[in-house]
Amino acid sequence: MQTTRPALDLSTTIPGTMMDVPLTIHWIFQHAVNNHGAREVVTRLDDGSYFRYTYADFGKRVAQLAHALVELGVKPGDRVASFGWNSHRHLELYYAVPMIGAVLHTVNIRLFPEQVCWVLQHAGDKICFVDGSLVPAVARAMAVRSDVPMEFVVMGPTTTELPGARDYEELLAGQPETFDWPDLDERTAAILCYTSATTGDPKGVMFTHRSTVLHAYAAGLADGLAVTQRDVILPVVPQFHVNAWGVPFLAPMIGAKLVMPGSGMDPASLIDMVDREKVTLALGVPTVWLAVRDELVRRDTTLPTLKALVIGGSAVPPSLYDDLEAKGTRVIHAWGMTEMSPIGTAAAMHSDLEDATPRERRAALLKQGRFSPLVAWKVLDDEGKPVPRDGVTAGALWVRGPAVTGSYYRLDAELPVFEDGWFHTGDVCTIDELGYLQLVDRSKDLVKSGGEWISSVDLENELMGHPAVREAAVIGLPHEKWIERPVAVVALREGQSVDEPGLQAWIGERVAKWQIPDRVVFVDAIPRTGVGKFLKRELRERYKDLLSE
Ligand code: ADP
Repeated sequence: MQTTRPALDLSTTIPGTMMDVPLTIHWIFQHAVNNHGAREVVTRLDDGSYFRYTYADFGKRVAQLAHALVELGVKPGDRVASFGWNSHRHLELYYAVPMIGAVLHTVNIRLFPEQVCWVLQHAGDKICFVDGSLVPAVARAMAVRSDVPMEFVVMGPTTTELPGARDYEELLAGQPETFDWPDLDERTAAILCYTSATTGDPKGVMFTHRSTVLHAYAAGLADGLAVTQRDVILPVVPQFHVNAWGVPFLAPMIGAKLVMPGSGMDPASLIDMVDREKVTLALGVPTVWLAVRDELVRRDTTLPTLKALVIGGSAVPPSLYDDLEAKGTRVIHAWGMTEMSPIGTAAAMHSDLEDATPRERRAALLKQGRFSPLVAWKVLDDEGKPVPRDGVTAGALWVRGPAVTGSYYRLDAELPVFEDGWFHTGDVCTIDELGYLQLVDRSKDLVKSGGEWISSVDLENELMGHPAVREAAVIGLPHEKWIERPVAVVALREGQSVDEPGLQAWIGERVAKWQIPDRVVFVDAIPRTGVGKFLKRELRERYKDLLSE
């Protein structure tokens, strides 16, 4: 890893002979249309029916949309918002908007109305494309402030009137099916995405054409998300948050069939999609797959076509890993963040593990994985010195690379997360000799008990291994003597029971005694962020006096 630049006289370098062709999204688009034209894109619609067309049809509609955008007055550099589920129309926006030089701002539909209003304003969006079923949500956001000028285009049927809104299909109808795409600089902004504010205010990350293309290449490698043209991919990760992990670019680039779940994110709908469309690879956060697993167990069935599941966003609970592997589905654990486009690592098997015991192999594959070739990393201790690469010593993780953001959109404050060309992820981790990253915690979520750190992730994993526990979040709460002590917030599976001492005893058999949570609180459901992660900030607030009562 290079940390200092070599003191060389570079004035004597000479140019190469390669064509100077910018790395823009047009490359992925043209390739999908020309070389994978017959491959399908399928969307599950709100009424449960399925819409399907091919990448060739997609190409024509993207051109029609581009003409419609120009007619609507969208100019290069303008921000265009989308407020929608994963669908073929959202995919069309992913291409048409950046390919005319404008920027697609994908708005997280699960934000509170005030936050939606805030990001629309911060981004300076002029037009918002909204799914028919989401019109009420967007109307609520617009009601927060009346002075945000916005034109609306509604995608698909709606039962709610949005005054002045245009209809997506009417805008496309009759438009030419080809477009004379402009030549763009590869550093042109393409997509804007705000972090979901697990911590602090949402911050905007502006992906470029170049970073988007490079990210897709790196993410698709065999030891990455392992995508082939034969695959049928179901991105349950939303297009409204971190580009659905790059799948909208990766699948067309490779020629894989895409199955878009629309609003059908419940386990029964997802199982139906996998069955019907013969999905081979699906991607999503652990909560989605925990629910799917429970439904499969209830029905006593399996998903035979599903070869692999990419799981990320939060740590994969070992019990989920075991259950899925037992059903014949390989789990690919991945880690990343909005600021990294987002894929940083994926847990493929290293050659040195070929002769390892199944137990050793499982332990490695449960880690967050090995780094993408386009991500450089360093792990530093409190004094800023690199920690040993021993899989034990934890430190703060910094990254750098062509698909890592170097700043936040329209945020001038100097943030300590950017330093010397590196980005501080806010994650605390170890890295072992084979290069597997293991997240210990987010630095904000670590529990500081006395002088010792306790990983909330470790405790959550152990708790979720208990047969009665559906989900568990561990937080650190103020404590008079120890500064902070861990408290577990637990939701039980239907029809199951276990009490506080019972769970403390279970944990006590698995971790050091001083790490056992002081209290276990039972709730019906754990509050979540817009993308399904535990909202620990809210839990810390709700229970802040628990240990002093
Ligand atoms: P935010 O939650 O702030 O919007 P992201 O959705 O981009 O940001 O989430 C990034 C964070 O999610 C990472 O920094 C990390 O803490 C957590 N994360 C992502 N993948 C994993 C994983 N596989 N295991 C544990 N934590 C993860």
